[in-house]
Amino acid sequence: MFGPLTSKPGSSQANKTGSWRMGKKPKFLQKNCIACKMCILVCPENCVLGGEKNTYHCDYVYCKGCGLCAEICPKADIMMIEEGEQ
Ligand code: SF4
Ligand code: SF4
Repeated sequence: MFGPLTSKPGSSQANKTGSWRMGKKPKFLQKNCIACKMCILVCPENCVLGGEKNTYHCDYVYCKGCGLCAEICPKADIMMIEEGEQ
């Protein structure tokens, strides 16, 4: 489901902030999303992707689990879950 680590050529190992995650990661529920793009705007790693309603997701290779996307989502359509959960 996730691309190879080389999916963003040119990015250094230091930019792969996914390894910084401390236990939690966002789960994009894709149920009540209204495509407001707030999650994209707020993400400090620029790793949220999406276009149409209920298509938003993030690249876990770069996501550092800060939780800002879940906090800002007006539809509560992003949930922070444990690293090991799906
Ligand atoms: S948890 Fe933070 S880094 Fe990860 S997708 Fe959400 S805003 Fe971006
Ligand atoms: S912030 Fe929530 S409602 Fe807005 S685009 Fe992201 S997931 Fe969808």
